[in-house]
Parts: sequence; C-alpha cells; structure tokens
Amino acid sequence: VQAIAYIALGSNLGDSRRTVLRAMERLQELSGQPLVKSSLLETTPVDCPPGSPNFVNAAVGLVPRAGETPESLLAKLQQLEREFGRTAKKILNEARPLDLDLIAFGNETRATPELTLPHLRAHLRRFVLEPLAEIAPNLVLAGQGSSVVELLRQLTSGEVVRRLQ
Ligand code: ADP
Ligand code: MG
Repeated sequence: VQAIAYIALGSNLGDSRRTVLRAMERLQELSGQPLVKSSLLETTPVDCPPGSPNFVNAAVGLVPRAGETPESLLAKLQQLEREFGRTAKKILNEARPLDLDLIAFGNETRATPELTLPHLRAHLRRFVLEPLAEIAPNLVLAGQGSSVVELLRQLTSGEVVRRLQ
C-alpha cells in the first residue's frame, strides 16, 4: 500500500473559495495518483485576532512521488503558500490567502518546530477533522487512539458554518 499524505487547506483573505480550488489543482501536480479531495467548508475563525474573516477549509490526500520526504513536501507547500501571496506573519493567526498544513505523511513522525508529524493540533480542530473525515474517516493519526470520525464525534466546538460545494 502506498503512503498517503494528508494536507489541510485554509484561506480567509481574498477570494478564498477560488484560492482553495486553484491550490488543489497545484497539489495534484505533487501526487502520483488522482488527488482525493474533500468538499469546501466555510468555518468561523479559531484563535484568530478579533474581526478575522471566516475561512474556507478543505483537505486532500495525495500519493507522494518517489523520493518525496515529509521535509521536501513541506518545502513545496510553503512555496505554494508564497505563490498564493502569503507573506511572513506579523500577528499570530492573522488573515492569510493560503495556509497548507501537512497533517500526516504515511506513518512518519517528526517532532521539530519546523515540522511536527502528525500535525500537533489537527486532532483538536473541527475545521481540519470535518473535511478529513470526508476523505479518510478511518484514518488513525499516529499517537491518537481514535480514528478521524471518532475524534470528530468527541469534539464539542462547532466552528463549521456550512458546506460550500
Ligand atoms: P499556522 O498553520 O499554525 O497558522 P503557519 O502556517 O505560519 O502557522 O506555520 C508555522 C510553522 O509551523 C511553520 O514555520 C512550519 O515550519 C511549522 N510546522 C510544523 N509542523 C508543521 C506541519 N505538520 N505542517 C505545516 N507546518 C508545520
Ligand atoms: Mg500553516
């Protein structure tokens, strides 16, 4: 079985829906197989400055190409963020045209500030788990005792507003 990399997409600046759809097209180029895509969700901001716009969130699964590592994939995700107009942040969780978080890369684990795998906060965030549950309901993230749908069921916060497509 080929390892799958799961990526969470988020945008709350500019034409977020279009940005997320275009970013998915670019992510397809990084995958050896057709991308597995969730629908787009509108969500309310979490831990963001007051007055932050709503987000569009989604998740995709891709099959990394031969030789791709978690580090090389993250570098490509960060390059894509810049391509879509992301600049160095000045304020914690300020509005951004595109955020691409690597949620998991097969069963790989990492524990550095530059790369933590699975992503540190993924299992706590409805805006990550909800789209992920559409494409990988039974995925168990390393270090978690429960699958994505089970984690989702355990959450009490409710930031998803609506499904956009
Ligand atoms: P956030 O996603 O929390 O809004 P950023 O996108 O600005 O914040 O990312 C902050 C840092 O998180 C980046 O410098 C990146 O190196 C680091 N990072 C650590 N683990 C991961 C991961 N799994 N996916 C994406 N970025 C990560
Ligand atoms: Mg990020």
